[in-house]
This record gives sequence, C-alpha cells and structure tokens, in this order.
Amino acid sequence: MNKRKDYISWDDYFMGLALLSSMRSKDPSSQVGACIVDSETNRILSVGYNGLPKNCSDDEYPWMKEGETLETKYPYVVHAELNAILNNRGAILEGSKLYTTLFPCNECAKAIIQSGIKEIVYLSDKHSESAEVKASKKMLTSAGVDFKQFNTSIDAIELKYRNDK
Ligand SMILES: [Zn+2]
Repeated sequence: MNKRKDYISWDDYFMGLALLSSMRSKDPSSQVGACIVDSETNRILSVGYNGLPKNCSDDEYPWMKEGETLETKYPYVVHAELNAILNNRGAILEGSKLYTTLFPCNECAKAIIQSGIKEIVYLSDKHSESAEVKASKKMLTSAGVDFKQFNTSIDAIELKYRNDK
C-alpha cells in the first residue's frame, strides 16, 4: 500500500492553524489568527488571535470601531501576531516564520522585527493602502524580514467532529 496522496502541505497546515485560531476571536468585525513556526523543523512555537489582555473582560470592554477613542476597541485589543509572540513558552523566535491571516500592522511589525522573526506568510492584505501597512512594509523591508502572500492549490480544509451525519 502506498502512502496517502491527499495529505495537507506544511503551508496549508500552518495557515489552517492561524485560521482556526482566528475563530477564537470575540471581535465582531475582525478575526485574525497567527502561528509561529520553526522553519527548519516545522515545529509550532506559538499561536495567537486578536483579543483583550489577560483578565480584561470580553464583556466589559468595548468592541466598537467608531466613537470616542476610549469607547472603541482600538486602545485595548492585542493583535494576533503580538499575542503569538507574547504567548510563546520560552521558545527562541530568532529565525522563525510567522503565518498570519492578515498582513501585520506597523505595531506588530516592530514586535516581529525585535523578536527575530525572519519570514512572514500572510493570507489577506486588504489594508495595503493604509498608513499602518505601508509603515509596516517599510520597516520589515529595512530589517530584512521577508514577506510573501500565501499560495495554495486548495480552497478549504474541512474539520468535522462527527462523521455520522
Ligand atoms: Zn498589529
């Protein structure tokens, strides 16, 4: 018997994990997930999604996008990429690779550069015209962090908990 042919690639697996992580987000308008891996061993170093800092209640803080700054989500939410960097359990991120469902903003780019991540694979770049993403790309390029858009031959990965329906 030969081995299965339809197993998923490492890229599909890691972007799949980033997408699955994004499903944990409580943000009603934007769900982002990230996964950091050791690019040589393909071991997962950390995952994250956009959410509030520890002990800041999802029910007490605002999720609004517009209004007075303190009444919006923006001053409070930790982005997926920063969460993935901060969530790692003592792993050395130097030389690692980050998969993210959305191109990192300038604040995350600073953390990515400082943590030693050397490569970014992103799914969407829908805010490419924003100042945050332009600043991000400028810094990542200066710092020698490679970034490329995710490329795959499959449209979706389906997860099922029950096979009897
Ligand atoms: Zn960010």
